[in-house]
Amino acid sequence: MQNREQLLEVQTIFSRRHIGLLIVLLLFMANNFIFNNEKMQIGFIPSLVISGVLMLDILLSYNSFFHKFWLLVTVRYIEVLAVGMMINDLSDRSMSNINNIIVILFYSLFIVEIILLNDMTEFRNSLGVSLLCQIPFAVIVIILCIRQSDNFTARSIDYISIAIISFMVTWAAATYYGKTQKYYEQYMFSRDRLLDRAKDNSDKINESQKNLRTVNEQLGIKKFELEEAYRKINIVNADMEFQNHFMTMMMSTLNLEKLATYARDMLNERFSLKYSELVFVNEELRAKYQYESLESVLGEVEAMEFYDFFLSDLFIQEHSEMGSRFMLNQVDYDEFPFFKKAEISAVAINTLIMDDTDNKALYIMLSGEKDAFADKDMLFSNIFGQMEVVARNISLYYEIRQMSIMDALTGIYNRRYLNVYFNDNFINSETPKDVAAAMVDIDFFKSINDTYGHLFGDMAIKTVAKLINISAKDNGGAAFRYGGEEFVIILEGKSLSEAARIMEELRVSIKNTPVQSGDTVINLNVSIGVTAYPEITKDISTLIDRADKAMYYSKQHGRDRLTIDNGRD
Ligand code: GH3
Ligand code: MG
Ligand code: MG
Repeated sequence: MQNREQLLEVQTIFSRRHIGLLIVLLLFMANNFIFNNEKMQIGFIPSLVISGVLMLDILLSYNSFFHKFWLLVTVRYIEVLAVGMMINDLSDRSMSNINNIIVILFYSLFIVEIILLNDMTEFRNSLGVSLLCQIPFAVIVIILCIRQSDNFTARSIDYISIAIISFMVTWAAATYYGKTQKYYEQYMFSRDRLLDRAKDNSDKINESQKNLRTVNEQLGIKKFELEEAYRKINIVNADMEFQNHFMTMMMSTLNLEKLATYARDMLNERFSLKYSELVFVNEELRAKYQYESLESVLGEVEAMEFYDFFLSDLFIQEHSEMGSRFMLNQVDYDEFPFFKKAEISAVAINTLIMDDTDNKALYIMLSGEKDAFADKDMLFSNIFGQMEVVARNISLYYEIRQMSIMDALTGIYNRRYLNVYFNDNFINSETPKDVAAAMVDIDFFKSINDTYGHLFGDMAIKTVAKLINISAKDNGGAAFRYGGEEFVIILEGKSLSEAARIMEELRVSIKNTPVQSGDTVINLNVSIGVTAYPEITKDISTLIDRADKAMYYSKQHGRDRLTIDNGRD
């Protein structure tokens, strides 16, 4: 059995054909009625019945009524039976009998319709439908036999023959139709399967293409991200390399001037700067360490404006924190007009605290390129942090070195430094230099200590040391505390007589300078010995020893006097 839609569709087609049949029937009825044509005669009542049934059929089919097979078959049975009533005598072989032609036509249509509407793919069905189609025929035959009782046997044989032929034809048609239907179904089935498979495959291909596109897009994004990350890594690597190099250079010196030079050179090379300089806030240090003049870069007036802004108390205070930084990656000339002439586009100013006394310096970098310092915060933090540490170490180093060569009580050089100084400048000097040396010892110092106390003694030593230092400095020399209350004076480039004059002056000035503490006021005397190279001794290493000996001579000969070495031992 076909499905409901197919049934309705086929039925509508058949019912439309019935319109033609109806018209023919009505024409014949009119013909009979008007011309009373004997040869074309057709039963009036059966014609009326058929017309009625056909109209009902058309009406029902147009209202989609035949959606049930049994309903359709029932209506068709009625139609076939009604048509069958038109047959007068089936054994009448005359084809001019219109009634018979109509009946045969109608019956054939009925058979075709039933076969088409039924599923004939099974043998059982084609046989069943063939039998089903014979029922109305059998009914008509029985009615005809009853109606016409003459020549019964001959008629019966005729009817049975026709019935057998009708059955055979019907069955053959049904079987044939069933076979083609089966092949068609198989064909359709395999075609549908192929189509389904093709559709499946095409769906799969579409799906994988879509996936491929998505993967491609994601790959594209990932590639872009990777390239970006790679670029960043490269920059970070370059920065790291620079940083390492910078730090190595910084660590290689204990000289502030070299430190500034290294930094300037390296930063210049790395960033192609228009100006790169360590600028001290302190004016004295600024003058000492500044290498390149800002005036030559910005212009005279502009440089002054620059300093007014960046060395102002306000700016320094705002950027006084360790590691504080001022950055402009795109300079606005309305805000900073002094950058206009030199076409400075990017500025980075790092604050460095150079020592424990809070001495600040600015590391100034000026570039002609916009964004020259973009993303360089980390790098600057690291390198200037390092530079700051090195600068502080340098300052500390000088402080400690100073301490190591100075005498704590008097503030003049100590004996250890005398050795270094004398060795470096005279004993190990490539070119011999004239030099005089004097030894000074306070007379009867033990008794001063004993009488006035050790603290007073200390003050006395300090007073004498101060006078000796002044005398040495005034004469281009250096003074050293040699022992407890003994001092050495080295006078470079001085002859024996010059040195003797200076020492005599010193002796008198010490003698005339009172030492006072509270109510105690005393005057001190010193014994001095003086000698000179190469006037007195040709052996420079004996110079201090000879001065000592000359001083000893003064002690032995009344003290409070100066002994000039005469070259004799
Ligand atoms: P002379 O005239 O022979 O030199 O007699 P003197 O008493 O000065 O003898 P000497 O030079 O040998 O004595 C040095 C004394 O100086 C010994 C010591 O008590 C004292 N002295 C050494 N260093 C210091 C110091 O740093 N402070 C004080 N208050 N006294 C010191
Ligand atoms: Mg003494
Ligand atoms: Mg002494």
